[in-house]
Amino acid sequence: MQWEPVIGLEIHAQLATRSKIFSSASTAYGAAPNTQACAVDLGLPGVLPVLNRNAVRMAIKLGLAIGATVVTHSVFARKNYFYPDLPKGYQISQYELPVVKGGHLRIEPDGEVAQEVGVTRAHLEEDAGKSLHEDFHGLSGIDLNRAGTPLLEIVSEPDMRSAAQAVAYMKKLHTLVRYLEICDGNMQEGSFRCDANVSVRKKGQTTFGIRAEIKNLNSFRYVERAINYEIERQADVLEAGGKVVQETRLYDSQRDETRPMRSKEEANDYRYFPDPDLLPVEITAELIEELRLELPELPDEKRQRFVADYALSSYDAGILTASREMADYFEKTLEHSAVQPKLAANWMMGELSALLNKQAMSIVDSPIGPERLGGLLKRIADQTISGKIAKQVFESMWAVDETADEIIEARGLKQITDRSTIETLIDEVINASSQQLEQYRAGKDKVFGYFVGQVMRRSKGKANPAQVNEILRRKLKE
Ligand code: ADP
Ligand code: MG
Repeated sequence: MQWEPVIGLEIHAQLATRSKIFSSASTAYGAAPNTQACAVDLGLPGVLPVLNRNAVRMAIKLGLAIGATVVTHSVFARKNYFYPDLPKGYQISQYELPVVKGGHLRIEPDGEVAQEVGVTRAHLEEDAGKSLHEDFHGLSGIDLNRAGTPLLEIVSEPDMRSAAQAVAYMKKLHTLVRYLEICDGNMQEGSFRCDANVSVRKKGQTTFGIRAEIKNLNSFRYVERAINYEIERQADVLEAGGKVVQETRLYDSQRDETRPMRSKEEANDYRYFPDPDLLPVEITAELIEELRLELPELPDEKRQRFVADYALSSYDAGILTASREMADYFEKTLEHSAVQPKLAANWMMGELSALLNKQAMSIVDSPIGPERLGGLLKRIADQTISGKIAKQVFESMWAVDETADEIIEARGLKQITDRSTIETLIDEVINASSQQLEQYRAGKDKVFGYFVGQVMRRSKGKANPAQVNEILRRKLKE
């Protein structure tokens, strides 16, 4: 390809405070329209905003986690525009002096080397309300429950060069905000959404091309598709000798394309100015240190520790630390079983994840908790059951709330490791298979599998496979 994409993301993370950023109304999702909008959120005259301390603390935590500068004196500004879901006529945001400046995230897209993506800034702002167009004939409804919900807008440097890198960055940030417990990360509810800025340039060119901004992407898949569509579209325009216009575009997931929303010429002049109703945000060194101590073990640190302490591959450790819940589940499983970490990792990434995905369940809702999984793994490790039988036991455990031991006992699934019992089984099979025995002795090695299969069948799958193999080989030679 002759064109190189350049991508920068603006991500809005809804902060997990209980009340709004400038009022005491609730931020809970899903309430009846306009039941969670107080006089401040409605923009009634004479009201005054009061800053939610927790929103600031959360922004600082993000800043500390990405190695950014926490700006000790930041300012709220009014961003003026008219829209029905913004009754005040302005959004309170931060402009020249955001609370967080600089920082970076380390990403590792599939099959690529790890790289750093710069973060330009992160600023606090309030969300607007919602316009509802479907329920009212020829009219729009306005729901102001979301008005005043705290957002942290995290703006990246234009450091990404493919849709895959952009998705890796977004996923990394998604993991991080949930580790920090500053955002629930629920993308369906819009708690974590993204505007993607995309331009292309000739390979080797050092200046950036003109960009389009694709608004409001609320899934990783849409981000990937919208960016890839946009790269192709811009390349086509340039190939045909045209010019890309700087504009805002919308992604239509049904048609898998982006369409213009407004161009630069129509762009608003927001007439930013410092909000006279709010004092500057002064952050003390003590507060920063207090919050630094509150930081949990972060995803990269946890991943490195999993590699070092559990001898896992970096890939496995990456999957197990993709969420705190997954990582906690893994460590609890080990506590309950003291088995090889790799065995626990394989079961979590294999059987457990498969069933969870199939039922669209998250690991915190898993019917099999770490204690019961640990109990199962113990019985694999001490050879009470084979890996194959373990899968059956696992499926039973999913359906009924019994321990692995209870299921193994009740169904008589214990592995047969007694040599003489296995020898008897093998003798029976050999005696009943004279034809196959002849073939085997005539050099047809493949027939060996037939014998193994027969022995396993006679033992109802319970004979220890390694022992069966070993004893069979010997006896067939006799
Ligand atoms: P605005 O305030 O208009 O949104 P910014 O300069 O703050 O513009 O940039 C917004 C985002 O666009 C940032 O994430 C930045 O990295 C990205 N960006 C800026 N220029 C380009 C470009 N030429 N191509 C791709 N992304 C860009
Ligand atoms: Mg923008």
